[in-house]
Amino acid sequence: MRVITLECPDCGTVVAANELEDNRIMKCPGSDCETVLRFDDLSEDDQSFYLENKEQYRL
Ligand SMILES: [Zn+2]
Repeated sequence: MRVITLECPDCGTVVAANELEDNRIMKCPGSDCETVLRFDDLSEDDQSFYLENKEQYRL
């Protein structure tokens, strides 16, 4: 399975696509990092792949 993650541009914390999709907009989970991460920050390719294969990511 293809792993889709977004790396925080400020601290490098990696967030899984399903967490982003659940929240749409979320504060970076990294400690002392206030950066806001969005599902839309994923590349279009990753977004569409994730949405088409969503069920796999819920298992
Ligand atoms: Zn961060």
